[in-house]
Amino acid sequence: DLDAATAPLPSVSKSNVGHRWSDITSYATKKKVQSWFQLPNGNWELGRIMSTSGMESVISLPTGKVLKVNSDSLIPANPDILDGVDDLMQLSYLNEPSVLFNLQYRYNRDMIYTKAGPVLVAINPFKKVPLYGNDYIEAYKNKSIESPHVYAIADTAIREMTRDEVNQSIIISGESGAGKTETAKIAMQYLAVLGGGSGIECEILKTNPILEAFGNAKTLRNDNSSRFGKLIEIHFSETGKISGAKIQTFLLEKSRVVQCAEGERSYHIFYQLCAGAPQKLNLKDVDEFKYLNQSNCYSIPGVDDAEQFHIVKEALDVVHVSKEDQESVFAMLAVVLWLGNVSFTMIDNENHVEAVEDESLINVAKLIGCNIADLSLALSTRKMRVGNDNIVQKLTLSQAIETRDALAKSIYACLFEWLVEQINKSLAVGKRLTGRSISILDIFGFESFDRNSFEQFCINYANERLQQHFNRHLFKLEQEEYVQDGIDWTKVDFDDNQDCLHLFEKKPLGLLSLLNEESTFPNGTDYTFANKLKQHLNSNPCFRGEREKAFTVSHFAGEVTYDTTGFLEKNRDLLHLDSIQLLSSSSCHLPQAFASNILNQSEKPVVGPLHKAGGADSQKLSVATKFKGQLFQLMQRLESTTPHFIRCIKPNNFQSPGSYEQGLVLQQLKCCGVLEVVRISRSGFPTRMSHQKFARRYGFLLVENAAEQDPLSVSVAILHQFNILPEMYQVGYTKLFFRTGQIGVLEDTRNNTL
Ligand code: ADP
Ligand code: MG
Repeated sequence: DLDAATAPLPSVSKSNVGHRWSDITSYATKKKVQSWFQLPNGNWELGRIMSTSGMESVISLPTGKVLKVNSDSLIPANPDILDGVDDLMQLSYLNEPSVLFNLQYRYNRDMIYTKAGPVLVAINPFKKVPLYGNDYIEAYKNKSIESPHVYAIADTAIREMTRDEVNQSIIISGESGAGKTETAKIAMQYLAVLGGGSGIECEILKTNPILEAFGNAKTLRNDNSSRFGKLIEIHFSETGKISGAKIQTFLLEKSRVVQCAEGERSYHIFYQLCAGAPQKLNLKDVDEFKYLNQSNCYSIPGVDDAEQFHIVKEALDVVHVSKEDQESVFAMLAVVLWLGNVSFTMIDNENHVEAVEDESLINVAKLIGCNIADLSLALSTRKMRVGNDNIVQKLTLSQAIETRDALAKSIYACLFEWLVEQINKSLAVGKRLTGRSISILDIFGFESFDRNSFEQFCINYANERLQQHFNRHLFKLEQEEYVQDGIDWTKVDFDDNQDCLHLFEKKPLGLLSLLNEESTFPNGTDYTFANKLKQHLNSNPCFRGEREKAFTVSHFAGEVTYDTTGFLEKNRDLLHLDSIQLLSSSSCHLPQAFASNILNQSEKPVVGPLHKAGGADSQKLSVATKFKGQLFQLMQRLESTTPHFIRCIKPNNFQSPGSYEQGLVLQQLKCCGVLEVVRISRSGFPTRMSHQKFARRYGFLLVENAAEQDPLSVSVAILHQFNILPEMYQVGYTKLFFRTGQIGVLEDTRNNTL
């Protein structure tokens, strides 16, 4: 039933992705063609139009049911011959149900990869699919397979890197659980095989179990959820061998160390350590550590933590973390766990407390390498400078708990950074920016939950930047090709998210500046922050003040309402100087390194042992500022590369194979801009064919013999003979460019003639 593909299209305009049957009903009813019909639950069903009168159509569903529906509610379906095409651009109709159906058709057959023009869409199979391994790698390398695949993307990246001597990037995005990290590993696997030989590729692959142990955790969405963003830059020598790599991480979720939701876990490494623990650390069972037992979840189905611990230790060996250092790392993890068990007793009737000198306090002191009394003081008092006097303030219970948790979080975050640094030393690349590197970015996608906090604020800000990069690149690329081939082309606008970026970045009255300003005020609170936003930003179309402490931002992917509770504290991310001093007084090298690391991150060095109330601590770079700096650096780096985009899609929320929820998929396709790319391409000339190929394919259809003529003349003659309207194609220097669906007319005739 190819006829649908040949239906004349209404004029092509920006808002016209899903053109409606009513525009072409006379044609449709004649042919009883297939059409999408939306069920009350929002899902689409394929039906056949039996008849149409006025605005009413009668359609029959596959179940045999016949329905009378408004013609306007029908959306044209593609002919069967286009079922499961491997690039959405080949669809004659690029409307939402057609795109969803095509992806589902492939997904049901374990073809989880589909191109959307230049973008690779990957749908998480939640099961082993037979698409990987050396045979496949070989096949993609030899180009004996052409179906879309991560391998094909990685292969293109290698080729373009070699050919153009331009750095490449593979940018992977998607929601939590969509498959980003697995996809990144699959890409790394391909690069490691093709660029292998020096041995360094094994080290690079071993960074995965390490970073996952320390940076991944079980969440409700994903049993192995990365709680940090990652960029790995893999460098190649002139002979195409991997010569080194560098890892950069973003925004590790520190709060998980001290707090996690029911049914989730803290970082894998804690459970691995307890299960495979060296006895000398004197660790208890996981359920006896408060940081681990608060969420009532200790294990992950199908995962053996003791075995994983073994794998992590081996991986640490491979990246040259010495046995001594490994022991120190495990000791620091034990410090964190024991800190969680440190408790306090009331010492006066003003709520002041003192740390209980029990097994946990003693163990923390022993493992940090400090005095028990010093530790106790650091956890229950705070040195302050008031005017010219140095005073010691006793802490209340909640202040002491906050101090203890801040210390635990800092130690963990420093440990993570330290590990990344060790890995980077081991993978070190001598010369940088040789024009021969491929970076893989695995970073959190856009997040919108019932309650959105500081973390979502940063993540979504980053996604605005990445989206801008995506837009710019893809639309620029598209338009450049038209210009290069000399065709007549009026520039297409795309949804620009500059306004939203402006809302975040404007100085001094943008979200980030106002957040930083309020964070430096000793008396600033989440309330004063929210009020300040409302006062200064209410006229911004991307901003809306909400009741109480909340505000809403119009992101490219939709509106998100943020609750400012905890914003200032998370942005300041203070570790009291008393705690820093405690670490630097340690007799062990890791705590000392952590302390100097923390001090180095301050804008100005914190001098002297004492600080003003709320003063010296806040000289530290705010989390938002640090993140913005990292993000700008990242964007700069990406701008200098040829990007390849992979959009991962989660087909259901249960991590279960075989279930494909249309609504969920559609929402993600919209969020990550896939439909937009398809829309833009449709409003242009998505089908291209070289003059030669076109002449070869359709030349025999010409009434007059054209064998003697050049390909261009043959092509033009074909276009005329088949009455292809002038606005439906463009003749470029090397290629013909067609509007969507046009090639269908010719294909149809060709097939009927053959
Ligand atoms: P994300 O990084 O986007 O949060 P992950 O890459 O961790 O998601 O994927 C979540 C889970 O989905 C994985 O643990 C794995 O079980 C499954 N998964 C993802 N991609 C694949 C794949 N290509 N093949 C098989 N399973 C996959
Ligand atoms: Mg991940």
